[in-house]
Amino acid sequence: MHYGEEDYDDKYHAAVIPPIAATSLHVFKDVESYLGKYSEPSESTQPCKRYTYGRSGNPTVALLEKKLAALERAGGALCFGSGMAAITSAVMHCVKPGDHIVSVYNAYGVTTNFFNNRLSKWGVKTDYVRGCDPSEFEKAIKPETSMFYLESPSGAVMDIQDLAAIAGIAKSLNIKTVIDNTCATPLYQNPIVSGIDIVLHTMSKYIGGHSDIIGGVLCSDADTIHEINNAGRQLDGGILSPFEAWLCLRGLRTLPLRVKKSGENAMAVAKLLESSAKVRKVYYPGLETHPQSELASRQMSGFSGLLSFEPAMTMEQCIKFGNALKIYQTGVSWGGFESLFGMWQHEPYDAKVTGSGEKHWMIRLYCGLENTQELLDDVSMALDGV
Ligand SMILES: *Cc1c(COP(=O)(O)O)cnc(C)c1O
Repeated sequence: MHYGEEDYDDKYHAAVIPPIAATSLHVFKDVESYLGKYSEPSESTQPCKRYTYGRSGNPTVALLEKKLAALERAGGALCFGSGMAAITSAVMHCVKPGDHIVSVYNAYGVTTNFFNNRLSKWGVKTDYVRGCDPSEFEKAIKPETSMFYLESPSGAVMDIQDLAAIAGIAKSLNIKTVIDNTCATPLYQNPIVSGIDIVLHTMSKYIGGHSDIIGGVLCSDADTIHEINNAGRQLDGGILSPFEAWLCLRGLRTLPLRVKKSGENAMAVAKLLESSAKVRKVYYPGLETHPQSELASRQMSGFSGLLSFEPAMTMEQCIKFGNALKIYQTGVSWGGFESLFGMWQHEPYDAKVTGSGEKHWMIRLYCGLENTQELLDDVSMALDGV
């Protein structure tokens, strides 16, 4: 909680809350030091070094970066104005025109949209694997493969990838590994320890934690962070604003409490759903019935509040179920106080590969911080009404 604030007593009169450095520039004491700035090798991302201009670094943002890097056991971190800005910066750092990506199929939809419809325009091709077995990555490698993209657990269907095994395959071939670690949170999984190169989170979910900001972060070794700041974020211009950074600093203080409560609620709801005849299959890595439960428990130390399930219901019944819920509100996103319901038509990986076109409805429940029994009653009541 106080990490990175060691010199704050002297600077800020022992204020218990770090201040917001609402400034776009930092002036120099004389022209000589201003001119000297341009002979320095590069901008630092560390707090307490010389800041110049807010697009390349800000003290409040840097404090957040220092804490997040420590949480992820990384050499450094960079914060961005959205999760997608962090994702695209990480990916663009790892690929150049002509390169090839192997990505998990069940990654966040906007990420695969970026691979298919935007990155493809720059001559980068992406192939998809389900990714539950590391050998799938090995088989998909081409001579021009430069990056593996992972998301574990994946936010939609809770697939798990074996991080150490996949990082091992990648390292031997000089392929970079990037993971979206949002669902696990930096508390429950630290992929850098398993050898993954770049770990990223959207902070719009658990880290912000109050459904009131959009932000993202990527964490890596110090050299990579330095490079992505100088050759990436400064040029792309996607830095997080100091106020959003301050809200995330506030969010971090309660992150362990919030994720724990949210995870307990999800586990209770997952068990209830599993016992219902109106549910075909529950996707929650904390359940022993999850097909990758053993791997999940090996590389994660806890499970958060997101779960999905395959309903044994028609589309009309799913809609009726969603509308009947009183505590769960209908909406995208997750990670805040309030529990949320969402549904979508899922095309399983096998159906995609065989071209069968088979799709089925999926329901996602984000279990927030409300009273556990009230959430259980809400779900039971809504299932009974279908
Ligand atoms: C929401 C989300 C993102 C995108 O983050 P934004 O802050 O909305 O850009 C990326 N990955 C996962 C898993 C998400 O849930």
